[in-house]
Amino acid sequence: MARSFEINPQRSTDLDNTLSDKCPHCHVAFTARKIREYIGVDADGDWAFSGALCPACSRLIIFLEKGEMGWLRSGIGADKVTFHPKEPRLIHPIYVLPEPIPKDTPPKIAKDYREASMVLAFSPNASAALSRRCLQHIIHERSAQDIQNFKPGNLQDEIRQVVDNKAIQNDNLNKLLDKVRIVGNFAAHPNKSKYSGLIMDVEPNEAEFNLKVIGRLLFWYYTESLEEQKIIDDIDKKLQEKSR
Ligand SMILES: [Zn+2]
Repeated sequence: MARSFEINPQRSTDLDNTLSDKCPHCHVAFTARKIREYIGVDADGDWAFSGALCPACSRLIIFLEKGEMGWLRSGIGADKVTFHPKEPRLIHPIYVLPEPIPKDTPPKIAKDYREASMVLAFSPNASAALSRRCLQHIIHERSAQDIQNFKPGNLQDEIRQVVDNKAIQNDNLNKLLDKVRIVGNFAAHPNKSKYSGLIMDVEPNEAEFNLKVIGRLLFWYYTESLEEQKIIDDIDKKLQEKSR
């Protein structure tokens, strides 16, 4: 049965009992008290879970720790059980996103991006399939709104429409998006484009590159452009009030 540790900060300064880092979920820096739960001992050593709650996004960050049990001699009253973690391993989230996901990102898109990032280390093929599908959702959701007579079709044609129409008001992003079909070699693998979510063998760097492009697109569409729009709306409102 799991046993909780009582960690008294005044009496256990040598213990790793706070977490001071950037949150792997939301990338905001924070310091919080760690909660530690002892699991047991085996041939490799003592094991515990430790975790802290990020105050910014209210998500738990959980580590599996291998370490050494010990006693802290207090001299007064009962001695304290201590645990000295040596090899903490992040187990939740299992993968740290390269870019934070803007909070206004539609859940369907955020979910595909998060999952594509999580599986990257285990299966680049699965990751790339998820990221191609995610890209197509972003194009349908945002880029298509800025293209007259947008024709939904395969991913390659849709990327071409975005790039040819300069639908993203950022030249470098248009170029990056265009490179998705080149890096993925869509010309030689038309099914990648026809069925964007199909699991197929990736080209070198394809899975990582797709994630990078999605990270930039999300930032552009769900942070930058929304903030710019808010500035425009605010100034329009002020101008209207002035002209009354
Ligand atoms: Zn957080």
